[in-house]
Amino acid sequence: MEPREKPSGRTATFDALRRTVDGALFEPGEPGYGELATPWNLAVQTSPAAVLEAATPADVVRAVRFAAANGLPVAVQATGHGIASDLDGALLIHTRRLDGCTVSAEGWARTGAGVTWKTVLAACAEHGLAGLCGSAPGVSVAGYTSGGGIGPMARTFGAASDRVRAFDVVTGDGRLRQVTAETEPDLFWGLRGGKSSLGIITATEFDLLPLPVIYAGALFFGAESVAAATLAWSDWCPTLPPGATTSLALMQLPPMPGVPEVLAGKFTAAVRYVYVGNPDDGARWLAPMRAVGAPLIDAVRAMPYSMIGLVHSDPEDALPATEASCLLADFSPAAAQTLLEAVGPGTNSPQLLVEIRQFGGALSEEPQIASALCHRGAAFGLYSVGVAAPPELPAIAGHAAGMNASMGRWHFGASLPNFSASGGTAGFADSYTPEVFERLTRLPRHYDPDALFRLGQVPAR
Ligand SMILES: Cc1cc2nc3c(=O)[nH]c(=O)nc-3n(C[C@H](O)[C@H](O)[C@H](O)COP(=O)(O)OP(=O)(O)OC[C@H]3O[C@@H](n4cnc5c(N)ncnc54)[C@H](O)[C@@H]3O)c2cc1C
Repeated sequence: MEPREKPSGRTATFDALRRTVDGALFEPGEPGYGELATPWNLAVQTSPAAVLEAATPADVVRAVRFAAANGLPVAVQATGHGIASDLDGALLIHTRRLDGCTVSAEGWARTGAGVTWKTVLAACAEHGLAGLCGSAPGVSVAGYTSGGGIGPMARTFGAASDRVRAFDVVTGDGRLRQVTAETEPDLFWGLRGGKSSLGIITATEFDLLPLPVIYAGALFFGAESVAAATLAWSDWCPTLPPGATTSLALMQLPPMPGVPEVLAGKFTAAVRYVYVGNPDDGARWLAPMRAVGAPLIDAVRAMPYSMIGLVHSDPEDALPATEASCLLADFSPAAAQTLLEAVGPGTNSPQLLVEIRQFGGALSEEPQIASALCHRGAAFGLYSVGVAAPPELPAIAGHAAGMNASMGRWHFGASLPNFSASGGTAGFADSYTPEVFERLTRLPRHYDPDALFRLGQVPAR
C-alpha cells in the first residue's frame, strides 16, 4: 500500500529547514517522498508531514530543533522493518545516508544510524569477527539494538544491546550527545531496550566477538513429519546447552523466488539451529532432531559467521503483512500439541509462518551494566506472520490473536520491544516491567521537554 500522498508538493513551512540541511527534504507529492516514507511492511500506511533524508548528524540536530520550534512530532526510519504507527503529521528522519561503518580488528565496530547488519557482516568477515545480529541481516543496527536485539545466538551471547559501548544520540532538546555508561548513565540505560523513546541514535559503537565459523542452518521437514518434529523439538529444547540456540518455524511458503521448490506451496517445519563450538559437538546435540525422520532439506553445517542470515532465511523484500507475538514461560509437549491443533497441518491456518524461539541461557542473565531490556526470564517467544492483500489482513490478525489465546496456559505475560511494533503503544508498554516503564516515561521529561518523540513505539506521556 502506498503512503497517503497529499498532492501539495513544497510548502513554506519546511523552507527554513530545507535551506539549512545538507541532506534532502521531501514533502508529500514530491518525488522521493513515497520511496522514503514507505515501510518494509507495505500494509502500514504512513503519512509524515515531510521526510528528511539526513546526510549528517548535524542534519538530525537541525531537524529536531526545527520540529521543536514548529510543534511537530519527530519519528525515525532506517529500513522500515519495524515502523509502529502511521507517523501522521510527523517530521520523519530517514537515516539511510548515515552509512559509515568502521570495523576494528581489535574487536569493535562503529556504525552510522542507517547501517544494516548486512554491511557489518561483510565488513567483519575478513577479521573473523561477529556482531550479534538478528535473524534478518537487512534490519539496521540502531533500530535492532535499541530494541534489545535478540538473535539466532541469543542463548550463547545474550542480547546485542548488552554489547554496546557508546551511542551518539540527538535528544529532544536538540543536543547531540555522546552516551556511555559514564557520560550519560540514564540515557545509556534507556537506549539499550527503550527504542526511540529517548532520542535519535546517529551512531552505535559495540563489541564484536572472535567467531569466524558457526555450526548452523536449518532442517526442513515435510507435512507428514511436522507434528513429530514439533513434539520432538519441545522435548529437545530443555536438554540443550547455552552454546546452542534454536527456533522452530511452521511454514506455508508460497512459490516465489528464493523459496526452494521442495518447500513451495507446502506445509513444512524448519528447525533452525546455531551451535558455537566444535562442529562435531554441534552435530551430536542436533542428532535427536535429525532422528525425527528424513528431512526435505538438511542445511545444517559449518559455515562462515557472515552467512548467519541463512539460518532463518527471512524474506528480504517488502510485503504487506500482519504480525503477532507473545512470550511463553514454557513450551512443553502439551503446549506443542495445543499449537499444532491451532495452526498445524490440516487446520487451514492462514499464517505464513508461526515461529517459536527458545530463549534462556545467556539471555536470561542480567548484564553488568543494567539496561531497559526486560523479560529476560521468558523461556520462549511465539511470533507469527501473515502475508496477504491488506483487506485480508484483519482476519489473519484475528486468527493470530486466537492462536495466542489458545496458548494462554503457557503465557509468560509480556512482550519484547522488537517484536511488538504492531501492538503500538499498548504493545510497547507490555514490553517493560512497571518500574522500567515508569522510568522510560519519566526520562523524556528531561531529555525531550516538548515530547517530540511521542509517536510510534514510545510510552504514552
Ligand atoms: C523479518 C524480520 C526479522 C526480524 N528479526 C529480529 C530478530 O531476530 N531479533 C530482534 O530483536 N528483532 C528482529 N526483528 C525486529 C527488528 O529488529 C525491529 O523491527 C527493528 O526496530 C528494525 O529496525 P530498523 O531500523 O531496521 O527498522 P525501522 O522500521 O526503520 O525502525 C523501527 C524502529 O526502530 C527504532 N529506530 C530505528 N532507527 C533508530 C535510530 N537511529 N534511533 C533511535 N531509534 C531508531 C525506532 O523506534 C523505529 O520506529 C525482525 C524484524 C523483521 C521484519
